[in-house]
Amino acid sequence: MSKHETFRREGDDQSGIEVTDQFARFSQKNDIFSRAFWDDTIRSKHTAKFFSSYRMEAAPRRGDGFTQRDFALRNAAWLISDIMSERFAGKGRREGFQAPISCDTPVARDKLNVEDPALMAQEIKKIAAFFGADLCGITDFDDRWLYENRIDVRDFSDAPHDLPEGLTTVIVLGHEMDEDLVATYPSALAGAATGRAYSHEASVVMQTAAYIRNLGYEAVPSMNDTALVIPYAIKAGLGEYARNQLVITPEFGPRLRFSKIFTNLPIAHDTPKPLGVRAFCDICTKCADACPVKALPYGPPEVGGKNSSAIKGVRKWTSDAEKCFGFWAKMASDCAICMRVCPFNRDFSKTRHRLWLKLALSRFRRFALWLDRKRGERVKPGTWWENKRAQR
Ligand code: SF4
Ligand code: SF4
Repeated sequence: MSKHETFRREGDDQSGIEVTDQFARFSQKNDIFSRAFWDDTIRSKHTAKFFSSYRMEAAPRRGDGFTQRDFALRNAAWLISDIMSERFAGKGRREGFQAPISCDTPVARDKLNVEDPALMAQEIKKIAAFFGADLCGITDFDDRWLYENRIDVRDFSDAPHDLPEGLTTVIVLGHEMDEDLVATYPSALAGAATGRAYSHEASVVMQTAAYIRNLGYEAVPSMNDTALVIPYAIKAGLGEYARNQLVITPEFGPRLRFSKIFTNLPIAHDTPKPLGVRAFCDICTKCADACPVKALPYGPPEVGGKNSSAIKGVRKWTSDAEKCFGFWAKMASDCAICMRVCPFNRDFSKTRHRLWLKLALSRFRRFALWLDRKRGERVKPGTWWENKRAQR
């Protein structure tokens, strides 16, 4: 067996995942947000301003979308996520971002006997929805996507994940971002959509994991920490990878975030469901065109990327994370223009958008792209505030 084959796994073709012989597990230390703390080529006055802007006294003021109330809403939206991630930061664990979330619920001594893994999968999806997840898919614990280590945030050194033995499964949860706020990217106001999704996902993923632990099984809740969630989301059948580096789902397009639970619960796994997004992205460059710093690639997927923040040995569309984060830092807020302008960023609960989706995923995709030509314009953040006032 060649080295190339050792990195391949059953189901990769169906997922559209192409791993080559240069593959190496990603070191989270090279994640651009981690590099902003230890890598002098990234660390700058802008990165310091970016992180400190999440405290009101350091939030800059720059007019529409960056006023006091825009930052006030964004920072309030992050509150629950911040409380969760900071509670053990003094011990080096910034949970949900650089370490898995500590389990507040012990694994019950009595194990529930699971006779039918398929029924258990239905049950977990119901429970995840009950706690507020918008999507739920289940896949195998594929260790290729685990980060090499976790990070001790006291000195940004490597530390072990300390995951329990015998994990077999990853439950992936999807959390929708607010459509009206996403329409105002780039702005601090739009960052409230990100913060709210993180705060929600913290509670949903912790509560769903607690339920599984109460059944007598291991369940480790995780957000951006421990492993790359995108390959798991694709393998769990939730959507397909796109040029803007996001997973396009039939329910929310790219407008959502993902969390995950590592578990040994006996449960049926989902399978990848290729939709036809790859073929659409092949004829569309709206995200790459709209990116203000040209951080997204044109052309077909390639192996590797422009710098150390790209995973090695995976053929995919990869952004230039240094350019991307440089823009976030200058703006003192996150950016998702590439999410906003994507033709799949629609409300698929509406019939006309479901019809468009059918067209986009068929051989009439060029017509679907043409129909989209006038969509994706930025909504002025002030309009969002006016609309909300009018609704009262
Ligand atoms: S988030 Fe913004 S800066 Fe980054 S790739 Fe997308 S459009 Fe470009
Ligand atoms: S904007 Fe176009 S190319 Fe970019 S992810 Fe969306 S569909 Fe694909």
